[in-house]
Amino acid sequence: MSIGTIRFLGAARTVTGSCYLLTLPKGKVLVDCGFVQGSSDSRDRNREPFAFDPKGIDLLFLTHAHLDHSGLLPRLVKEGFSGRIITTTATADLIGPMLLDSAKIQENDAERMSRRSLRKGGEPVEPLYTTGDVEQALPFVDRVKYGQVVDAGKGIRYCFLDAGHILGSGSLALWLAGAGSEKKIIFSGDIGKKGTPIINDPTLATEADYVVMESTYGDRMHKNSADTAAELAEAITTTFAKGGNVLIPAFAIGRTQDVLYILNRLVREGTLPKLTVTIDSPLAKKATQIYLSHPELFDEEAVRLLRGGRIGDAITVRFTQSIEESMALNKITSRAVIVAGSGMCEGGRIGHHLKHNLWRPECSIIFVGFQAQGTLGRRIVDGARSVSIWGEEVAVRARVWTIGGFSAHADQKELLAWLSAFRNRPTVFVTHGEESAALAFARLVGERYGFTTYVPEMGQEFEV
Ligand SMILES: [Zn+2]
Ligand SMILES: [Zn+2]
Repeated sequence: MSIGTIRFLGAARTVTGSCYLLTLPKGKVLVDCGFVQGSSDSRDRNREPFAFDPKGIDLLFLTHAHLDHSGLLPRLVKEGFSGRIITTTATADLIGPMLLDSAKIQENDAERMSRRSLRKGGEPVEPLYTTGDVEQALPFVDRVKYGQVVDAGKGIRYCFLDAGHILGSGSLALWLAGAGSEKKIIFSGDIGKKGTPIINDPTLATEADYVVMESTYGDRMHKNSADTAAELAEAITTTFAKGGNVLIPAFAIGRTQDVLYILNRLVREGTLPKLTVTIDSPLAKKATQIYLSHPELFDEEAVRLLRGGRIGDAITVRFTQSIEESMALNKITSRAVIVAGSGMCEGGRIGHHLKHNLWRPECSIIFVGFQAQGTLGRRIVDGARSVSIWGEEVAVRARVWTIGGFSAHADQKELLAWLSAFRNRPTVFVTHGEESAALAFARLVGERYGFTTYVPEMGQEFEV
């Protein structure tokens, strides 16, 4: 007996824009409400009307703080959502700074576009949302601990499991009651890699009727973490020997802390000389403080190493705040290690660092995260000879390193292992992967475990 429907409104045959709508007998539930990122039409897509009435949504579950899952929350509230936003304690701490930073970017973008439009005799452009809208949205957030099963009323019980992806990330278990029956759906959220620095490995779920499963790396394998650290050390050593700088584009939340943690370990072990690492991102500074304020979520090693309340005891970490401090970094020509966002080089302070270093053969750009199609990061990784940065052509002469083992995502083998923990045979909806990765992964799951799989199209709806 069906208890309702699930509709795939984002991250369907693509990675970004996570948003799933459950229509149940007594209410409507959203899981995530994220930005579309990385495509040339992202800006327009994030402004498209919602496929549902925000006023009609009772609950929103947020699996983690990354913007491809949380980015549209303020818009949802602005357009009338007045239910509860339920997430884990650490995610609740992270989304404030994250969404305020996002609102600032929206405001600046709108200002720039308005000037352009007004000069042409057109209308001013409204920001997608403002810092004021974020402040309106944050009081709707409720926090819950991992493992706590909560009855939300309306026939809905829920529980977050640690997804091991970034601090606070969760897989979401929902028990949904319908006429005389109950169904259990698990949303994997973004699943972390085993051995991700600082946080715990993903918690395995063992039973569900349906699983909505991410597949970012559904068709690929990572290198092991010892190779990853060695490669990072090699990249820095060779760049320093050539007299260049090292740039690491990284998400402010998650990847930045992972990189600092590993660099600290490398210096501590003597693999790298004493270093100063500059984190050129006010958001990353806040996120690092929030990481350090949640030792209860650390793995064993991090509990030992981060005891002093600092992200590193062997490296010197410098956080820059103002634009002037950030610009001053451009004067450094060698031995700088600069970590800045955005992780895919779309906007953020990494832009001006690329402009000053990308054309210099003695420098290195180290990619430590997934680069989506259509992003500047992806063009550099794919070997572009020159790229356009803020309308200026810049030659790509720096050495480009892609260190996949840093990824905060499980690879194909680990995704399969996560699914193999199910003792029954759930129906699996494969999402949050580029089409080829999602299709390849779905095929493999069918072959290996005999589970029924679907790779939903955007907007497709299924009875559950
Ligand atoms: Zn994520
Ligand atoms: Zn994601």
